[in-house]
Amino acid sequence: MTDFNWTREQFHIPLGMIYLDGNSLGALPKMAPDRVLRMMEQEWGQQLITGWNASGWMEQPTRIGNRIARLIGAQQDHVVLGDTLSIKVFQALASALTLRPDRRVILSDTGNFPSDLYMAQGLTRLLDRGHELRLVAPEEVEGAITEDVAVTLITEVDYRTGRRHDMPALTAKAHEKGALSIWDLAHSAGAFGVDVAGGGADFAVGCTYKYLNGGPGSPAFIYVAPEHAEHAQPALAGWLGHAQPFDFDQTYSPGAGIQRMRVGTPPVLQMTALESALEVWDQVDMDDLRARSIELSERFLAGVEQNCPQLQLFSPRAPEQRGSQVSFQFENGYAVIQALISEGVIGDFRAPDVMRFGFTPLYLNERDVDEAVAILTRVMRGALWDTPKFMTRKTVT
Ligand SMILES: *Cc1c(COP(=O)(O)O)cnc(C)c1O
Repeated sequence: MTDFNWTREQFHIPLGMIYLDGNSLGALPKMAPDRVLRMMEQEWGQQLITGWNASGWMEQPTRIGNRIARLIGAQQDHVVLGDTLSIKVFQALASALTLRPDRRVILSDTGNFPSDLYMAQGLTRLLDRGHELRLVAPEEVEGAITEDVAVTLITEVDYRTGRRHDMPALTAKAHEKGALSIWDLAHSAGAFGVDVAGGGADFAVGCTYKYLNGGPGSPAFIYVAPEHAEHAQPALAGWLGHAQPFDFDQTYSPGAGIQRMRVGTPPVLQMTALESALEVWDQVDMDDLRARSIELSERFLAGVEQNCPQLQLFSPRAPEQRGSQVSFQFENGYAVIQALISEGVIGDFRAPDVMRFGFTPLYLNERDVDEAVAILTRVMRGALWDTPKFMTRKTVT
């Protein structure tokens, strides 16, 4: 059994704050500052360039990849860290399209995150070979997987509604129609146990600063299924994805397997922070995590529905159809979120009217949920949001 009292102790949450935004940026692991400081002083400070060998910085992207593999159900040596999620989406998509050279359709849904769609649009323009990004409603994806689809590019959990796609079913349908599947796990990795190998995903990508708690700017990961690992051609051919980076060849030749998805110099400081979060993750059973996540989010949902009738549930009601967030719609949602923040409850807002609340069992418990419901109830009943200072939009919502 996972000890969620222990995991809670491993994170720093400011006094008086109830943090319901771990779906956007996870909390600071208490051991991260020491780890990063030690890395800077003892490795960077003392070893300088020799740290790449002496402290294993060069292997860090695959070492961490193997640790994340358990959380997403990937085989060992098929996950690597680097760059940002947007870049990893581009990489996966470019590779998948070259594996389906006779097809022209990239299928995604209207609930996908804009950056994923922009990457598909940019790549399509760059290739200039008549590719089409076809968008359908999330509920219509399965029926839209036809024999002209090269690749399905789907984010498993919708960033606004929290709706979760059926990965094994959609992947099976894609394969039946001869298409490849790319899964974006931005709101899945660390939200519940994913099974990319069992689900048959061809490619998967995700970020580490949301549920995984790697900190702002923590790099993304990419998974390539074993059957594609030696065939996928990386469009972003960087020197660290080369078979022999230190031969300094003038011609690119891809590295073995997942190594070829590396691009350039890895962010060592950032990955050191991420490694301290993984120390905690190593102690977490993903079935326990899912059970806790459902308990906490159901408790919140019930409390809000009972006390705040103006808020409209925007997430699926059935917990198994959600990731680890619950969203509500309200016309003045932005102002409500600002009022909540001023009372110490941190959620976030997505245009046009969606209030999001993330549930992260590693550092949240029932008491937090009950207190958050009580504060939200007070904000709604007293219309505490209805003041000009909560109406002005900040840059980051
Ligand atoms: C958070 C998120 C991103 C962000 O991409 P970055 O390159 O890390 O900024 C991309 N796609 C999805 C689905 C996300 O949820």
